[in-house]
Amino acid sequence: MIELEVKCPHCSNSLMDDRVKVSNRPSIVLDGLYETKRGKVFLSSVYGDIEKIDHTEAPFGELVTFFCPHCGKPLNSTSFCSICGAPMVTLSLLRAPGMGEICSRKGCPSHCIKFSDIENEIKCFYNEYHL
Ligand SMILES: [Zn+2]
Ligand SMILES: [Zn+2]
Repeated sequence: MIELEVKCPHCSNSLMDDRVKVSNRPSIVLDGLYETKRGKVFLSSVYGDIEKIDHTEAPFGELVTFFCPHCGKPLNSTSFCSICGAPMVTLSLLRAPGMGEICSRKGCPSHCIKFSDIENEIKCFYNEYHL
């Protein structure tokens, strides 16, 4: 079992919440926005674990926009989910170099913390600059 501890890529504050446990581990806390409904989303910090506590009440299949609960900056990135095409949420790893990512579509198998796919990042870079 791999646990990913993450921080905000903008302000570097930890996104780990020890008080709210998901799958018996400290959760990853994000601010979520679904349509006009804002709410905290607590994701499992266990790699690939889709357990979560979602206060946005977004239905399955809908996109959620995520923000840092510390600095309020949006976390949805310009790379897209390889499964469903939704924008990915990119987070910095807390104790190691590198990034983790979460699909912003609720109910997608990638709507959980995973290491970001370097191959995909390169693809997106090329698409963006039309190389
Ligand atoms: Zn932040
Ligand atoms: Zn997805």
